[in-house]
Amino acid sequence: MDFKLTEEQQLLVQTIREMGEKENFKDLASEVDRTGEFPWKLMPMYAGMDLLGMTLSPEYGGQGQPALTAVLAIEELAKFSPMMAAPVFESNVGPVRVVDMFGTDEQKKKIVTGVCKGELSVSVCMTEPEAGCDLTSLATNVVEDGDGYVLNGRKIFITGGGEASHYLVYTRFGDVMGYRGIGAVIVEKGMPGFTFGPQEDLMGLRGMPSCDLIFEDVRIPEENVVLRAGDFKNLMLTFDIERCGNAAMCLGVAGGAMEEARAYALQRHAFGRPICEFQDIQFRIADMAMKLDAARLLVYRAASGAGGGLPSIYEASLAKCYANEMVIDVTNSAALVFGGYGYSKAFPVERMVRDARAWCVAGGTTQMLRTTLASVLFGRRFDQRPGK
Ligand SMILES: Cc1cc2nc3c(=O)[nH]c(=O)nc-3n(C[C@H](O)[C@H](O)[C@H](O)COP(=O)(O)OP(=O)(O)OC[C@H]3O[C@@H](n4cnc5c(N)ncnc54)[C@H](O)[C@@H]3O)c2cc1C
Repeated sequence: MDFKLTEEQQLLVQTIREMGEKENFKDLASEVDRTGEFPWKLMPMYAGMDLLGMTLSPEYGGQGQPALTAVLAIEELAKFSPMMAAPVFESNVGPVRVVDMFGTDEQKKKIVTGVCKGELSVSVCMTEPEAGCDLTSLATNVVEDGDGYVLNGRKIFITGGGEASHYLVYTRFGDVMGYRGIGAVIVEKGMPGFTFGPQEDLMGLRGMPSCDLIFEDVRIPEENVVLRAGDFKNLMLTFDIERCGNAAMCLGVAGGAMEEARAYALQRHAFGRPICEFQDIQFRIADMAMKLDAARLLVYRAASGAGGGLPSIYEASLAKCYANEMVIDVTNSAALVFGGYGYSKAFPVERMVRDARAWCVAGGTTQMLRTTLASVLFGRRFDQRPGK
């Protein structure tokens, strides 16, 4: 196993770090958390630095880079805040990958190209009021009508909701029940019958648009179908890439919190000594480094295994599950190093504690990831429905 990053990858990480310092991302992260306004000015800047669509197809404006390169960029930016990393996440490991892998030439020309330029963005729309973990029970549905379809339903907790230009909507085709009936269509902002609920008021990730999507007799032209009923497996396989990105966010947030705690421990004094001289503080920082590095190895392994394609379900689930729990643990411990200031907005660690909690739910709960891991380990499926 080769643990070395390429020279290009090392340079990318260094460039991002320097850019974040030059552009004062630390202050920008606090401002975004305080105002709840997403930093849209990052889009043209990232497009100019080729950070958008790094993993997408070169023939449509991407750079065909491996998943690991995007993971490294997401991790480095998320050290400042997940908001700084969000455009890189969405454009490299988000649902645009489904379009890039399975979409038609027309869809790719329009959407992938626009995403790479920072002009378009795509949200993934799976969760419904009665279908979260139990995704295969989703009720949103398209019915054939003339030369297209008519879409009805409601999605909740959609990241990017209200702001994204395109929505990859997981939907049932007709009345085929279970996963066999599920495919995906693209819904464009502004289509008649497509409206948004109010923006969510979330604990963390403040500044990230998120809301319900409401579809009332939305006409979907045939050319907006990305995957048909029967292709659910491909949708979920592509989602494993997003899970690596989710885990990379955890690496970044934990890395940022650890660095804040380490720096504070060097300068804060108690009992006439810097607190880094107390064993509890030393062991906290050492434990943070240990857990962060263990998670990093799992995430890099999953992303490296994916190459330019898809990761193994087992490796991606393991990495996400471990990183999701690690980041909660590390940020909690980092806050304790700050004493009273760990509970104050005067330092970024308070925000990091809140931001850390999102990842174990978004992209699949850690409980559901464990059922996936168990399936692989036992070599059989465990249907979660009663009587099965
Ligand atoms: C910050 C954030 C961003 C999100 N972004 C998006 C997005 O962009 N697009 C999107 O579609 N969704 C998004 N979601 C929604 C997310 O995917 C769901 O919240 C998640 O899948 C869980 O679904 P639920 O909330 O309905 O929980 P439920 O399914 O109601 O589960 C409730 C609890 O029961 C547990 N549980 C359920 N079934 C089982 C089981 N069989 N075994 C063990 N435990 C079980 C769950 O783990 C959880 O703890 C986002 C959520 C958050 C918090």
